[in-house]
Amino acid sequence: MKKKIFVLLISMLACSGCSAANHETNTVSAVQDTEKQSEMKEAQTSEGEAASDDEAVVEVFAMDTYITIKAYGKNANKAVAQAQERVEELDKQLSTGLAESEVSQLNAKGGGALSDETTYLMKRSLEICESTNGAFNPIMYPIMEAWGFTKKTYQVPEKGLLQQLLTYTDIQQLTFDERQKTVTFGIQGMKLDFGGIAKGYTSAQIMDIFKTYGVESGMVSLGGNVQVLGNKVDGTPWRVGIQNPNTEEEYLGVLEVTDKAVITSGGYERYFEENGTVYHHIIDPATGYPAESGLDSVTIVSTDGTLADGLSTALFVMGLEKAEEYWKSNRESFDAILHTKEGQLYVTEGIADEFSSDFEYSIIK
Ligand code: AMP
Ligand code: MG
Repeated sequence: MKKKIFVLLISMLACSGCSAANHETNTVSAVQDTEKQSEMKEAQTSEGEAASDDEAVVEVFAMDTYITIKAYGKNANKAVAQAQERVEELDKQLSTGLAESEVSQLNAKGGGALSDETTYLMKRSLEICESTNGAFNPIMYPIMEAWGFTKKTYQVPEKGLLQQLLTYTDIQQLTFDERQKTVTFGIQGMKLDFGGIAKGYTSAQIMDIFKTYGVESGMVSLGGNVQVLGNKVDGTPWRVGIQNPNTEEEYLGVLEVTDKAVITSGGYERYFEENGTVYHHIIDPATGYPAESGLDSVTIVSTDGTLADGLSTALFVMGLEKAEEYWKSNRESFDAILHTKEGQLYVTEGIADEFSSDFEYSIIK
């Protein structure tokens, strides 16, 4: 019985969904919502338990989202338990919502010594920041605070305030010493925010844990951001549903993947509405306002979960044309599914054969 439920849960993977304004709702499957709730209940009551000898699943709430971790084969139980521990550790380290987290402490002190994890994240964030021309910016926290995204006290800030706060998001003012593992903020009040990359890093870490335990088939879904190891246990690729940003009732399409991260950024994932205008959580570092690039959903597919997460945010900010250009210069490291507000759907060539959709779509070559 349990086994069937777990398999159901995993066979329909989807990206995160959002139901109402002033809410952040992350679901494993938007389409199977009702079904999902009972599945989740079942999964929660069996936390850490194996569904069978060679299958383990855990459902946790961490990083402000529902996380499903699943592994098959020998050591599946141990691997999943270790993965859960890692998620909880990383949450405590990286969460800006916890005053005692490493990132909060760095922000309070204006920099300082970094752990191995934050050293790695800093390095990767700065690489992505540079290669995306600042579209990905890991020090957007002061702006996130001004919009109330950090405490769910949403408000539209004064333009003057945003202008002022943009001085804190100047990446040139941040000094990172990788060897010494330190970061220094050039202006008091600058603050780190790994929210655009942390989930991808976490899913990548889980794949590493799986590999350490010899697990050959497994997956994690962090609020719909998915990373998979190998194929499903029946030998066929994992199937990942890409959420339609306009409706929870359907997918934009389904992608078949093996050993990949599939990570989506969408304005629908966290937003609020004021006077009929929707303000979402992905900020254009050039303006301090929610990015209005014409894209409403960007999915990145890559073997590198950290990169996929960073790029999902960056390409959302860039918009279609720049995103296309960026892919063309970096096509060996990722693929993308892009959806515009007007409803056009684009898929890059590298995953075109693995993507299926009821919608019309163009292939970027
Ligand atoms: P994601 O869902 O991966 O696109 O990440 C969005 C989160 O990243 C937000 O909730 C912020 O914490 C942070 N963020 C917002 N805008 C940016 C940006 N331009 N670059 C990097 N991180 C950002
Ligand atoms: Mg991201």
